[in-house]
Amino acid sequence: MGLLVGLITLSLLSGFISLWIADLSTQRRVRGAVELRLLMWLLGGWCIGYALILAVENEALMMALHRIKLGIICWVGLAWLVLVLRLTDNTQVLSRRWLITLTLPVMLMCTLALVNPPGWFYAPKIVESPLGFLTVIETHQTLYPLFTFVTLGYAIAGFVLFTRWAWQGRRAGRRISPFTWAFLVTFVVMVFIAPFTNRVYLDITPIVTSVISYAIGIGLLQLRVFDLLPVAYDKVIANMPDGLLIVDGNGRIRTMNTAMERLTGDDAKALEGELLVDAFPTLPPNLQDETEIYWHDRHIKLNRTPITDYQTEIHGYLLVFHDITQRKRAEDDLKWSLHQLDILRQISDEIAETLSVDDVLLISLDAALRLSGGDEGYIALFNDQRKLIASKIVGAVKFDFNEPDVYHAIKTRQAALITNTPIKRLLLPLTGRESVIGLLNLQTPKATQFTEETLSFMQILSDRIAVAMENARLYHQAQDQIEELQRLYQQVSHLEGIKTDMIRIAAHDLRNPLAVLMGYVSMMQLDQELLPEEYPDYIEQMLSAVRRSTVMINDILSLERIERMAQEQTAEPFDLVPQVREAVREFSWLSQEKKQTLSFDASIKNAVIHGDALQIYEAMINLISNAVKYTPEGGQINVRLAPVSGYQVILTVQDNGYGIPEDQQDDLFLAYARVKTEETGKIEGTGLGLNIVKNIIERHGGNLFFDSIYGEGSTFGFTLPLYKEPTEKAKKTLQDSKTLAK
Ligand code: ADP
Repeated sequence: MGLLVGLITLSLLSGFISLWIADLSTQRRVRGAVELRLLMWLLGGWCIGYALILAVENEALMMALHRIKLGIICWVGLAWLVLVLRLTDNTQVLSRRWLITLTLPVMLMCTLALVNPPGWFYAPKIVESPLGFLTVIETHQTLYPLFTFVTLGYAIAGFVLFTRWAWQGRRAGRRISPFTWAFLVTFVVMVFIAPFTNRVYLDITPIVTSVISYAIGIGLLQLRVFDLLPVAYDKVIANMPDGLLIVDGNGRIRTMNTAMERLTGDDAKALEGELLVDAFPTLPPNLQDETEIYWHDRHIKLNRTPITDYQTEIHGYLLVFHDITQRKRAEDDLKWSLHQLDILRQISDEIAETLSVDDVLLISLDAALRLSGGDEGYIALFNDQRKLIASKIVGAVKFDFNEPDVYHAIKTRQAALITNTPIKRLLLPLTGRESVIGLLNLQTPKATQFTEETLSFMQILSDRIAVAMENARLYHQAQDQIEELQRLYQQVSHLEGIKTDMIRIAAHDLRNPLAVLMGYVSMMQLDQELLPEEYPDYIEQMLSAVRRSTVMINDILSLERIERMAQEQTAEPFDLVPQVREAVREFSWLSQEKKQTLSFDASIKNAVIHGDALQIYEAMINLISNAVKYTPEGGQINVRLAPVSGYQVILTVQDNGYGIPEDQQDDLFLAYARVKTEETGKIEGTGLGLNIVKNIIERHGGNLFFDSIYGEGSTFGFTLPLYKEPTEKAKKTLQDSKTLAK
């Protein structure tokens, strides 16, 4: 009797503990709570059913209870398998199709157990245990192995999965909880004990199974292996900076977090259960999965995520309100800055292209007012002496150097934002390469206008303006200078022209009176016997003066002529040989007078050169005339023309005259340079001849040279490049380049 009471108590106790754990799992929202609750209910039912069978003595009731007990047992294996699948994260098996597949055999078994058609499943009978109590046992019929197969099959599958999961967890470094060990050990023990207990009709399965499940249940609940996550979730959700709101399938608010309370200014508890549309009528009615809204003065990115169970059925929605106001503002600021910069670039391009100071000032002031939001202002350009050069003004403002703020800004070269007066002011000195060249002053009475950002932005603009102004200023300066130079040049050219004309007229006109004078004086010389004694001497002096004047006039005229020729540029190929011959011939008479020998040798048949024949003739005449002039009576002068290295011709005029002392040879080719020696001191000359020769020869690409030994004689000469007929190809290239140039 004592055993029976103990057994009943134990069974009942097991049953109630199971129900208690089921309840506990509901309160603590651990993972697999739903599944655990189901299992615990079934086990509780099983235990209590068994306890009742033992407790009652009415046969019919015992039979009925046994039937119900068997019906419950059918579901235990499945509930256990589902729990394990849930714990081991094999949730894909928990889809609707799988669940139906798994449930069907169980439903079949359960129906069979409850109906128990005779001869099909089992035949129950009441027996007395050797231990002294009455119980119901069943003799197995045809379909009974199926029942064992289904219930045990699910239970074993669950056991294998659970063991594998525990084992993998251990390998992955997770500690196996003592409850898991207890579960495993109890299961094995039960398998071994069952045959012995069955012999005395004692059914320990419900109690043992329950104990096993406590192990799991308590493991889950107490060790909080899984319930940390929901707690953590709760914490995260509560403290998330984003607003969170959960609505159920009926559109009623289930919960919202503190961020959401902050955003809306509502109390979460007060809104619980309210329809979302009633609680927040300002929310857009048809929410998309992702929407951007402007709500409660904030820019919000609203994400809507459906909350589904493992059968993908939607039970509600999670609404996340992500505040993107900051980002939006930053984006807007950035857009605004980019826009400003774009305008700045345009203005900068515009003023960079303008070289008119007036235009630069006008464009700059207009742009500065537009960009800064100023109402009036001025831009002033001044010089180093602080003298105003140009300015542009908008509104009733005036530029005054002595105004303290203005003075300070210019002196320190620092841009300034002045806010301590009723009118806000931006003072921007325009700094050129070296000094402050101007000032930009912008003003507004509006308190919201002009910030530090405006100041820095305007500084960029003012730098550009300064560069443009400096350029315009320099351009104008250069322009003025060029104009001045052109004016001076024209003036000088004009004066030069007048001077040249006067010299030419004077020189030319002087030649005639001199010729007349010369004629009469020569005549007087012829009749000198008729004159008093001292007159011949006078006449000689007069003749010498007249000759000197003639030479001088000729030189001046030829110098002037050469300069004019140089400007006219009349170059063409001509043969030098007949030219030299002619020049020598021209002097033969004079040399004969001085009893000199003047010879000419040409070791070249023709020497064609490209240039001005008149000028070259002038040069040769000068050299030959010098040789005749600076060689005493009876001397020898030899003129030679010869080719040099095939592409040049050389002309030398050699004499055995007075020669030039070495110390006076250096400046010989300078204008007005004359050699002063005893012998030549009395010989008339201007010192222009050799200078003229040098100019002519060098202009024709040749070289003038000389060699002279004082007392022995001199050799003067020059080389000139020979002219080569251009080839057909060269002619064509020349023609092409001319056409191209046109
Ligand atoms: P000018 O003959 O009018 O003085 P040039 O320029 O022709 O001027 O000559 C400069 C000087 O060079 C002459 O004063 C003369 O002393 C010297 N000179 C020129 N040619 C000879 C020469 N063939 N022999 C000696 N001295 C010469």
